Amino acid sequence: MTLPALKPEYEALVAAWTELAERGVVDLRSLTAGDEPLLQAVIEHRGAPLVAISAGVHGDEPAGPSALLHLVREGLPREFAYVMWPCTNPSGYRMGTRRNSEGRDINRSYGVKTTAESRAVAASWPNRIPFLALDLHEDPETTAFYCYERSAAGRYVAPELVRRLEGSGIPIQRDLEGVDLGLSSGEATRLGLWQLERGWVRSLGQDPEAIIGGRPYSVWAAAQGVRRSFTFESPGLGAWETRLRSLVLAVRAALAIVPRDSLPSSSEENVSS
Ligand SMILES: [Zn+2]
Repeated sequence: MTLPALKPEYEALVAAWTELAERGVVDLRSLTAGDEPLLQAVIEHRGAPLVAISAGVHGDEPAGPSALLHLVREGLPREFAYVMWPCTNPSGYRMGTRRNSEGRDINRSYGVKTTAESRAVAASWPNRIPFLALDLHEDPETTAFYCYERSAAGRYVAPELVRRLEGSGIPIQRDLEGVDLGLSSGEATRLGLWQLERGWVRSLGQDPEAIIGGRPYSVWAAAQGVRRSFTFESPGLGAWETRLRSLVLAVRAALAIVPRDSLPSSSEENVSS
């Protein structure tokens, strides 16, 4: 695959999505979040199970927005419909900072202590419940990929996803003990937040708000009825191409392996809210 060589400016991202909308590939909405346009893109296939994909909540993790753009340009599987937020932290993306221009971590502002950005995503949340939510991040301190999976829908499929990425030559962070996940693994295990596996983190369903100082998107999405979600962490210290490729392959792997028996029954309801 040919991947974009460099991180695009925010204006270039907006222009690229606008061009996809003009070609009829996506329906695009510009949501208001502070001074910046925050985009939502929808690909509707009536009655198809809905997948939510968000990227760029941390502005110093720019591979997510580029990977999502690349996926849509290449074409996503037509058996699903998609609701996407291509960059949920425009001001942080511009500045290259984790936080937004008001110094807030948007991924701690879902449902409680909200920000303009999290309110924009919540206000544009679809009527029909996505069966899967994917959130594209990078870990600026690692040279290898890992992910989080949260599931109320039965067995975890992250082991298969990690195997597939490894088979495609993506470096995998097998041992997560030494990785900064926001709190120590011992503490997280004691509190029942998560369990470390080989290359992935099993989220155990607790709401971490009181512990990490706010509510992440994936936890909020679960409260909206999303039964399975992945948070992908590309190797932020790796080559740009590896960072992009790991996220592109992770999205494709998730769409290929999520158990079809956990899909909700099809619905004729529209995506738009
Ligand atoms: Zn992040």
